[in-house]
Amino acid sequence: MDFEMTEELLEMKKVARDFAEKEIAPIVEKDEAEHKFRPEIVRKMGELGFFGGVIPEQYGGTGVGMLATVVMNEEIARVSASYGLPFNMQTIGPGLVLLAWGTEEHKKNYIPKLVTGEFMGCFAITEPNSGSDVASMKSLAVDKGDYWLLNGAKTWISNAQVADIGIVYAYTDPSQKHKGMSAFAVELKNTKGVTTRAIETKLGLHCAPTGEVIFEDAKIPKSALLGKPGDGFKICMSMLDNTRLSCACRAVGVAQGAPDAAVKYANEREQFGKKIGEYEMIQSQLAEMFVETQAARMLVYRAAYLKDKGIKNTLEVSTAKYFAAETAVKATNEAVKIFGSYGFSSEYPVERRLRDAKSFQIVEGTSNIQKMIISSFVLGQRK
Ligand SMILES: Cc1cc2nc3c(=O)[nH]c(=O)nc-3n(C[C@H](O)[C@H](O)[C@H](O)COP(=O)(O)OP(=O)(O)OC[C@H]3O[C@@H](n4cnc5c(N)ncnc54)[C@H](O)[C@@H]3O)c2cc1C
Repeated sequence: MDFEMTEELLEMKKVARDFAEKEIAPIVEKDEAEHKFRPEIVRKMGELGFFGGVIPEQYGGTGVGMLATVVMNEEIARVSASYGLPFNMQTIGPGLVLLAWGTEEHKKNYIPKLVTGEFMGCFAITEPNSGSDVASMKSLAVDKGDYWLLNGAKTWISNAQVADIGIVYAYTDPSQKHKGMSAFAVELKNTKGVTTRAIETKLGLHCAPTGEVIFEDAKIPKSALLGKPGDGFKICMSMLDNTRLSCACRAVGVAQGAPDAAVKYANEREQFGKKIGEYEMIQSQLAEMFVETQAARMLVYRAAYLKDKGIKNTLEVSTAKYFAAETAVKATNEAVKIFGSYGFSSEYPVERRLRDAKSFQIVEGTSNIQKMIISSFVLGQRK
């Protein structure tokens, strides 16, 4: 067991932190207020190799692995949860699905472009009446001989309006229940019958595009199928093991941003003739934030380490995702308290972090769903 970060990991962490401080921090508050997404930031991260960590060199990646990737992803999310998301939308989600389930053509055509940010990616599972219960989705792809005819409505899709390539889940044989679900790599901008609409009413993550993707008699080439017909549910679950981990490390980043801001404030703000950081109750709040964020980070690192070793990590990922999401909400909530009325103001950075943190309790399976997964292992129903 080795708890020390290598020189290489420390260097990658520093590169990501410097990028976040120089390129994102100066614009993020104003952009969040204006709901502005800058694709050029995603491309710059791509050029720096941030998204290539989980991708082998053969397809344009660096192959440094999941642990290195979550270390960098956390640093970006510490400054902006919105710009932490592209790690997921580029390679941790679509890229790894294509790598595991795509044909050589899929891999060559899409993965290098997702690595550089030339293409933006998304994955579309959720529908208006199908969230946690993935198998209840209604989207349907019918085999028409030369093509698949896809109909369905996806909602709450990150990158919906900007994605070039989407991993889309739909039934090809509903009579087989979840074994009749399939996954497709769909060129969203080049397919007739695909429309998107932005969701403008989000609580947070305002620099990150989110929207609906509607398929109306969309003709999808036969070659878009990933794996075999009926592999979709399996592909989706394996994808979630990766995307949940990305979510967990972003939650750690947002959690870490809370004590970073609150410590500074506690050392400046005076009440009753003393810095508020000198009061035991504030110290207790800061200590809890510190301990829980550290613990969440260790859970994330362990799950990433197992991924790099090729060891199945479903339990470790759900454990990390659950704890990191809850920690992010608690830490940012405590930071808002420490800032007093300024915590309630959008002129200070902590309220944004609390709003963004709430997303981690929902995306990639809610906290309840993570507890269901964890308890199924604890009860011995899964191994
Ligand atoms: C910012 C954002 C980005 C997103 N990006 C994507 C994306 O890129 N792609 C995508 O496909 N989806 C995306 N989603 C959708 C997200 O994955 C779903 O919202 C999530 O899976 C929960 O589904 P739901 O909202 O329909 O809630 P529901 O499933 O309707 O759940 C409602 C409540 O019931 C609880 N619940 C449900 N079932 C159970 C149960 N069996 N036991 C106990 N409690 C239960 C839930 O925990 C929750 O509290 C995104 C969502 C957000 C907010």
